[in-house]
Amino acid sequence: MSRSRAFIGLGSNLEEPELQLLRAFDELDALPDTRLVARSSLYRSAPLGYLDQPDFVNAVAAIDTGLTPRQLLETLLALEHRHGRVRDFLNGPRTLDLDILLYDGLTLHEPGLTLPHPRIQDRAFVLLPLLEIAPDCVVPGHGPATGLLYNCEDQRLEKLPAAACEPDVV
Ligand code: AMP
Repeated sequence: MSRSRAFIGLGSNLEEPELQLLRAFDELDALPDTRLVARSSLYRSAPLGYLDQPDFVNAVAAIDTGLTPRQLLETLLALEHRHGRVRDFLNGPRTLDLDILLYDGLTLHEPGLTLPHPRIQDRAFVLLPLLEIAPDCVVPGHGPATGLLYNCEDQRLEKLPAAACEPDVV
């Protein structure tokens, strides 16, 4: 059966964020009819919007999946829930946030599901890890991801040392 290439944005700023993301990489690889193809380094980013909370750790994963966009979204929401995600308020702290950034070249506007993810172009913590694993990436409706990064130059972002990205070292 044919599979689609999707890019997933991961973020966490509660309960050992690095471990939350490393676990999530494995869990993405274990989703039905899905294989993890690539994972970026981990990056530390300052919170946006609501500032009185810990820094976030972010990353991007590439998967090949036979799940439809809607099936994938529902599966990711269930995964967030298993990581103890509580939705208190917009931009608030979270144990795990999973977003479908891109799904093939698809553009979609449905209730509860927008593709590409509507805020890719504003966020260095998405664009930089995305470019690390997909340097030629093009965001439908916005163009090459490299160009979009210039709009986010003021956002503080720190690539974590490789050791922090290894499951057996953290
Ligand atoms: P948040 O976890 O705060 O980023 O928001 C999650 C909500 O955004 C979910 O309930 C989804 O229905 C909605 N949503 C819309 N488009 C997407 C997308 N591309 N990826 C993930 N969630 C999305």
